[in-house]
Amino acid sequence: MNQTALDILNNTFGYPEFRNQQKAIIEHAIAGEDVLVLMPTGGGKSLCYQIPALARPGVGVVISPLIALMQDQVDALAQLGLNARFLNSTLSAQQVYEIEQELRQGIVDFLYIAPERLTQQRTFDLLQQVQISIFAIDEAHCVSQWGHDFRKDYLSVTLLHENFPNVPRIALTATADARTKQEIIDRLQLHDAQQFVSSFDRPNIKYTITQKTNAKKQLLNFIQSKHLNNSGIVYCLSRKRVEDFAEYLNQQGLNALPYHAGLPAPLRQTHQARFLREEGIIMVATIAFGMGIDKPDVRFVAHIDLPKSIESYYQETGRAGRDGLPSEAWLIYGLQDVVFLQQMLAQSQGQENFKRAEQNKLNAMLALCESVDCRRINLLNYFNEARLETNCKNCDNCITPVKTWDASIAAQKALSTVYRTEQRFGASHLIDVLMGSNNQKVKQFNHDQLSTYGIGADLDNNAWKSVFRQLVIKGFLSVDYEQYGALKLSESCRPILKGEQTIMLRQDSIEKIKKSVSAKRAAQTKNIDPADLKLWARLKKTRKDLADEFDVPAFVVFSD
Ligand code: ADP
Ligand code: MG
Ligand code: ZN
Repeated sequence: MNQTALDILNNTFGYPEFRNQQKAIIEHAIAGEDVLVLMPTGGGKSLCYQIPALARPGVGVVISPLIALMQDQVDALAQLGLNARFLNSTLSAQQVYEIEQELRQGIVDFLYIAPERLTQQRTFDLLQQVQISIFAIDEAHCVSQWGHDFRKDYLSVTLLHENFPNVPRIALTATADARTKQEIIDRLQLHDAQQFVSSFDRPNIKYTITQKTNAKKQLLNFIQSKHLNNSGIVYCLSRKRVEDFAEYLNQQGLNALPYHAGLPAPLRQTHQARFLREEGIIMVATIAFGMGIDKPDVRFVAHIDLPKSIESYYQETGRAGRDGLPSEAWLIYGLQDVVFLQQMLAQSQGQENFKRAEQNKLNAMLALCESVDCRRINLLNYFNEARLETNCKNCDNCITPVKTWDASIAAQKALSTVYRTEQRFGASHLIDVLMGSNNQKVKQFNHDQLSTYGIGADLDNNAWKSVFRQLVIKGFLSVDYEQYGALKLSESCRPILKGEQTIMLRQDSIEKIKKSVSAKRAAQTKNIDPADLKLWARLKKTRKDLADEFDVPAFVVFSD
């Protein structure tokens, strides 16, 4: 072992030994080779460039997208007696001038630079004049359009190789899917770099993904029953929800702070500092919070809204349990989340192939949610890591195996109702019709006159929500954004309506099938419940009508 590297680890950073692949990574970087590091959040990437930067002559230049955290990082290094500086848009001309002076004097150990600074001629000229030990490209996935956090400014990093051919580069990221990795290699010209890929398994994190019924109550119950006085992060999709939930948790006697990009910067900083320093604070935040946050004892990460990709989910949940102690990743989601995210996608600006990629990622996230298999195996498979061969025994699906049920009849009822209401309504109204509710809207549209009115009384509201959610996610229904999220039939539901295809759905833990005997089974047995028989006859008639109509060649419903 290179003595200087271990010396630096022990004496400068105060750690007794290297973790996992740190030693090998650091040795290659000190030797002047280009290195690509894929390591999960909390794995210890910073030391991988900080130690080579100190071991080699010159200043270590760190490109980081996190302007908000540069000050923290620089302060942390200063505490260790190192001279660290940053260059970003928050500095005055005088401050910049002073830093430039120090750099020319060769007394700076680390220079953190925001990517947009790199493209400035002044910065380039400056860097040409000083001795650079290493370029560290932190959060390197930001150069990838396929990745979850593309930053246009990061493309400036691609210039480093040509302009500084003799300075070794180390690119680091916690994103590991194959396409993002390839894009990093291509864009940064790291084809000859040594690659270090750590396992992405986080055995101490227990994953739970479940359905949203009442987000506030569920979250409160989760925290109170399992994480009282623990530090945790609650991720929400919107600023409004952040404020709403932070207030709610506080009202319930918990210690919660809001964090989102719409809050004034000083308040954000105060909240972040309190979260880091005090114990037992719950940070209720949008995804603006978290990248680069280094708090070892976060005991839970809760998502009360669906993340838009597995990459984001993994990254965000990865902030739990960096100290290796048991921690939880807990997610609740519902049809509304799916509708909302797909709507955002539909309305987003961007090239078609970009949108398609985003849609694929959302689909993968949904598949993970709906899967009945071990969460950990699913996650690792997604990151192309087929390491776990047996179930983890520490995720919701392993602990309580999911039951599936034959939902063919329920699906027929649901799809028939979509058709009968002319594909103009969202799930909640459809459920009202199915369950025979006589609310205002049902009456207003005369939907109590439909043949499917009340034929779904055998399932409760949550069960129907689950059915609709799964029908959407499986592609049997699509969401019409022009029409306020109305559900429409897809071509693929034809065999189900005709009774030619069985459909198995996961039985969500919260749903109760009111009657264990399905209408169909009842109709086949001798002791027919007359009510069931009546329902079944009505359904059969509906189905027959539909099937007949479906066979008309010019059937128009599907062609739009
Ligand atoms: P990453 O950037 O990969 O998310 P960090 O570099 O922020 O991770 O490191 C996460 C935590 O692990 C930090 O608190 C860091 O000080 C600690 N750490 C890293 N390497 C070691 C080590 N060899 N021994 C002890 N602690 C370490
Ligand atoms: Mg990091
Ligand atoms: Zn498992």
